[in-house]
Amino acid sequence: MSSDDPRAISANPTVNTQARTEVPRRDVERRSPHSARRASDRGNNRPLPASVLTPPTPPPPPHLDDYGAIVGQSQLDTLRYLAKEFKGKTIKMVNSTAVGGGVAEMLNRLVPLLSELEVLTHWDVITGGNDFFEVTKAFHNALHGAPYQLTQAAKDIFLMYNEQNRRRMQFGEDLVVIHDPQPAALVLSRPHTPAHWVWRCHIDLSNPNPGVWEFLRPFVAQYDTAIFSSQSFTQQLPIPQYLFYPCIDPLSEKNKELADSQVQQICDEFGIDRSRPIVTQVSRFDRLKDPVGVVQAYKLAKKYIDCQLVLAGGGASDDPEGATVLQEVKEAAGNDPDIIILDLPPWCAVQINAIQRASTIIVQKSLKEGFGLTVTEALWKAKPTIASAVGGIPNQILHKLTGVLVHSIEGCAFQIRYLLTHPEFARSIGSSGREHVKENFLMTNDVKRWLLLFRILEQAKGQLSQAA
Ligand code: UDP
Repeated sequence: MSSDDPRAISANPTVNTQARTEVPRRDVERRSPHSARRASDRGNNRPLPASVLTPPTPPPPPHLDDYGAIVGQSQLDTLRYLAKEFKGKTIKMVNSTAVGGGVAEMLNRLVPLLSELEVLTHWDVITGGNDFFEVTKAFHNALHGAPYQLTQAAKDIFLMYNEQNRRRMQFGEDLVVIHDPQPAALVLSRPHTPAHWVWRCHIDLSNPNPGVWEFLRPFVAQYDTAIFSSQSFTQQLPIPQYLFYPCIDPLSEKNKELADSQVQQICDEFGIDRSRPIVTQVSRFDRLKDPVGVVQAYKLAKKYIDCQLVLAGGGASDDPEGATVLQEVKEAAGNDPDIIILDLPPWCAVQINAIQRASTIIVQKSLKEGFGLTVTEALWKAKPTIASAVGGIPNQILHKLTGVLVHSIEGCAFQIRYLLTHPEFARSIGSSGREHVKENFLMTNDVKRWLLLFRILEQAKGQLSQAA
């Protein structure tokens, strides 16, 4: 029987079906002596603690040497060795936003690290009016497969703002990297520059809306190379394509080590009881993240084993669909006091870090996914992770080795129950998951990939000019 078989939930003989206990609310208070909250605050209508209502001051960015303790001195030596040949060369990164979103987060760390290696890297952000960003948001959704009727007006807006930015920007660098579709048409400057031009696509292009992709494809085809985050996102193109995994920064607020006292304090503020198993999904309240499916899986598993469910997300206040999904999740949760729904402001990195660290199991039950950085974050914290086999997740979760892959609510429920009752196995996949992230998905790996790509492009150019 497959672990995703619905029958498995009741058929697994290793699970103690007596383990489920109804926890009287008073007991919850007694078992969580640090908790500042009363049991009556449990459930999903609790207010957020005051400590998360204002954004914290960001800490200073780390230096390359700070990563030595994590990745080892030899990794840093490799980076310095690779960078030597590009000392004094220049890179320009271009994207469409300086804050918010994974790309900005990665560039925030990548750019200073490359510059510290004396590969001088500049980061430019394109500008545009609301009309431009409405079009590019629609393109983004359409490239993820949403239905969309591409109009001439949308094409004109896209081209007009790209042209405006192209005229404003200089491209004197040795390597120009354009991130995502929004600035893709800047490549029209390529013939007038000496640079290698790279298109770094961070989105899932496996099933693009044909109209939008046919419009963008001729621009992409003018680059020297295109980079995707998963094998399944690649497209038919006349240029070489490379696979670059996204990465996380182990020294960021989201991922840095935390003292246990800080984890405890944050759990207390949110009313999370660390003395009982905690199953967590961190995600925007988005239907594609299937938070309602997570509630259903938890409810199935809870018939057999005691646990709490934490759903930590955000973005609902400025996203009308997010608010609706949040409401759907609350309705699915009902008045279960062990389901803790946290609608967090966007600056809650340290709180997310603490919640992930406090969790017994982390779930990412997406129906569709880009790469799934929440999975990377969970694996980095050595957490036993259950995630859907979609998007880039199977690159991170090697089934039963670095986590477990699931395909259904019942499969997810089975694995929650299985991992909670097999702690040794859970620990072993958690620690392999951390190693997998260390090998492949840390910021230092990204720096290395850029340096290697730069080398490949320079060699190709050298061979071309020799042949000429
Ligand atoms: N995240 C966050 N606050 C939230 C929800 C998510 O900071 O309320 C972070 C999460 O920790 C991860 C990123 O947002 O770093 C989400 O990336 P992922 O690739 O998992 O999904 P996306 O939201 O980009 O589809």
